Amino acid sequence: DYCRGGYHPMRIGEILNNNRYHVVHKLGWGYFSTVWLCWDAIESRFVAVKVQKSAIDFQDSALDEIDIFKQLCDKYKSGAANPNDVDSCPIVALLDSFSFRGINGKHICLVFEVMGENLLSLIREYDYKGIPLDRVRVIMRHVLQGLDLMHRQCSIIHTDLKPENVIQKQPSSKIVQIMKSYKRPPKSGVPLTERKDLENLTKSQLKKLKRKLKASEGAPASTEPQEETTQQELSNEPQVAKESENQEYDLPAFNDKKDDEGVKIMDFGNSCWIDKQFTDDVQTRQYRAPEVILGAKYSTPIDIWSLACVAFELATGDFLFDPRESRGVPRDEDHLALIIELVGEDNFPVKSRCTGNAWHHFFDKNGRLRHIDRLKIFKMEPLLLEKYKFEPDDAKQFADFLSGMLIVNPHQRHTASKLLQHEFLNKASV
Ligand code: ADP
Ligand code: MG
Repeated sequence: DYCRGGYHPMRIGEILNNNRYHVVHKLGWGYFSTVWLCWDAIESRFVAVKVQKSAIDFQDSALDEIDIFKQLCDKYKSGAANPNDVDSCPIVALLDSFSFRGINGKHICLVFEVMGENLLSLIREYDYKGIPLDRVRVIMRHVLQGLDLMHRQCSIIHTDLKPENVIQKQPSSKIVQIMKSYKRPPKSGVPLTERKDLENLTKSQLKKLKRKLKASEGAPASTEPQEETTQQELSNEPQVAKESENQEYDLPAFNDKKDDEGVKIMDFGNSCWIDKQFTDDVQTRQYRAPEVILGAKYSTPIDIWSLACVAFELATGDFLFDPRESRGVPRDEDHLALIIELVGEDNFPVKSRCTGNAWHHFFDKNGRLRHIDRLKIFKMEPLLLEKYKFEPDDAKQFADFLSGMLIVNPHQRHTASKLLQHEFLNKASV
């Protein structure tokens, strides 16, 4: 992958986009990109820079991803009580984008707010035994708010909703530690001597300011509130800040993240619009909706199906559907069988089976599975009670919440805005 058209072989300390982004640490990677913690020397903040692979298809998909992020962000801002409150937006904020040429070609880069670990890490943290239901409620509420923005307000389909693509707000303690101990480079931008706002300073004020800036170069972030000090001096006010006031800048509220549980939706690299779709080959296996398996037309309800799979996995630690290929049974057919076992034969009627351009691989013309004749029908509520030891009230509510998302007919499947009204989300101490 580190070849022409592939990833850029990034080095820590590399500086991107005209001295602006200083590469500090690797945050993650995916099929399309590597993602880096960077210091933004113009805005004096940490950011996450997603560096896309360089082949033309990857460049195109990065440009589509930028379009989608911009549209989501504009829509969010136009409806938000406080448009600058990026922290409350249920979608990861795109702050900037740029490109550069490396030895493997041209890389489009997306600059995001720094987030924490994705939900798969959270599932692992709980040792695949399920995370507390109150946390599931909060996470579901945030993701549904994101889906409502995407679906109803922007006509955008994510198409790859899964735990890896939902990310926690708070950076991990390891990343916070790296940010705290990072030695900040001097603020870049217009050279000090040419700045108009310095014209009104007296010679001695200017000298003092330069001395101070020089002293702060390379000082650790936790001890030197560089940007604020500079602005304070530039304001031409007498110096009144005391030690204790300065310390406020040092609190580890990086990038203004509120200390609440929340999550945001990320990775729109495979997303599309309702009326501008790029491929029929969408969604990761375990989260794939029946209409996609059948090769039928799809739209925003496929994300709702995926969300049910994510909710179940968060609450139990297990996949909801984990189809396998076996003894002549194709994996898709096993998947459809698992769906019928959960929703029941009657809730997956022949009309819904014999649709799309692939159904005849799995069903005969009467809607019977071609290779599987024995199904083990089961119900969600008893499963939650017996296998996962849910409290009766929780099992009932959660099963009901899931059932609206697992309606096979996409036109009847509940929408994000409807699901936001569900009593499961509105029950608890959150
Ligand atoms: P790809 O399109 O290549 O899958 P993603 O957008 O999913 O790329 O990012 C890859 C990984 O990088 C994510 O799974 C996550 O671990 C990490 N990552 C991405 N964006 C951020 C961010 N804003 N803050 C922290 N980590 C991030
Ligand atoms: Mg990804």
